[in-house]
Amino acid sequence: VDTGVQVDMEKLQGDFPGFKDNYRLIKRIGEGTFSTVYKAEDLQYDRYDNFWDHEIDAKWTPPPLRSNEAERQPRRRPRFVAIKKIYVTSSPARILNELELLHDLRMCPSVCPLITAFRHTDQVVAILPYFRHADFRAYFRDMTIPDVAIYLRSLFLALMSVHAHRILHRDIKPTNFLYDPTTQRGVLVDFGLAEREGSDSKPCLCHETREARKHRQSTSVWAQTSTTPQPGYPKSDTRSSRRANRAGTRGFRAPEVLFKCTEQTTAIDIWSAGVILLTILSKRFPFFNSADDVEAMIEIATIFGSKRMKAAGLLHGCVFETSIPTIGQQGFSIEKIILWSTCRSDEKPLTPEERLAVQFLERCLELDPSKRITAEEAMNHEFLRVKDE
Ligand code: ADP
Ligand code: MG
Repeated sequence: VDTGVQVDMEKLQGDFPGFKDNYRLIKRIGEGTFSTVYKAEDLQYDRYDNFWDHEIDAKWTPPPLRSNEAERQPRRRPRFVAIKKIYVTSSPARILNELELLHDLRMCPSVCPLITAFRHTDQVVAILPYFRHADFRAYFRDMTIPDVAIYLRSLFLALMSVHAHRILHRDIKPTNFLYDPTTQRGVLVDFGLAEREGSDSKPCLCHETREARKHRQSTSVWAQTSTTPQPGYPKSDTRSSRRANRAGTRGFRAPEVLFKCTEQTTAIDIWSAGVILLTILSKRFPFFNSADDVEAMIEIATIFGSKRMKAAGLLHGCVFETSIPTIGQQGFSIEKIILWSTCRSDEKPLTPEERLAVQFLERCLELDPSKRITAEEAMNHEFLRVKDE
């Protein structure tokens, strides 16, 4: 064991009064931008019955996908837990937000529930059931199309209930969806950037009727193109920047996030889930590899073409101009992108089941957020629907 990790673990165990009586830290399992996560044994796990509602045992599994009330009876608490030590540099408001949202979502299938949380001075730790999972990079290339459908059903089931609570996760990506390929179960974690829909928004053009938008666009286009467009892209854009929530991970950001839409919806999570699917089908991780938002826009525009990208920008009152030669007017079909990424020639076209996956993907990567498939619709899409035998 890394001595630095050992020192940190001892500090955590020593700092919290009573910690040692309740938990035995086993190892560090994650280190992110906002927290360090440890696997630990809950030393009191056999003392309590009826602790919380999911089926728990030494190997905790999330509740069944089609859960009904009978399956939601109180059960035992898990033996192994994940202890998320939130960095003290996080604002108290941010920490409270994460814990509150997790509390709201505690009954949702495929969402990793919060067991409890503690604070000692400025340090907060959240206790979650430990969920065994594999590293995405180790399995995504070997997934068959039926495997992909099962993986996504689990992810979209989580999104369906999160979105039903009108919560945006904002950071959907493989490291925040813990998946065990052997049991084919997954749980959504990390609500550190999540927020309630509308909590931080101002009206955006994209929520207006087409007619109202047309009228307003003509004025905003004039205003924004009054500076002579430069070749390439504006590295030093002098226009006053719009303030909008841009949280999330590069490469998974939806176009409306990049266009600084001020009225973002749960549709941003569907785009990110689509990027995961694109990664799996193209067998390339990370699929998008941009250093900043402008590069991210260029990557998206290369696929979709400048024409559709322009239309997508106008939805939010943004003018998308480019003179980058690799961005064509029309772009490419997602099917082509996948065939090229996997080095398949035109003689080996997509199979019918792959084509269905691509059709579903096109619905997730819809540039207009209001036209993008919702999590609920996704669960009923032919690709994800549980097929009757
Ligand atoms: P951060 O905000 O630092 O990204 P996360 O909640 O995403 O924190 O956790 C970081 C990592 O810790 C995850 O990617 C995962 O590998 C591990 N982890 C988090 N929660 C659990 C859990 N309940 N069971 C097992 N591992 C977990
Ligand atoms: Mg994370």
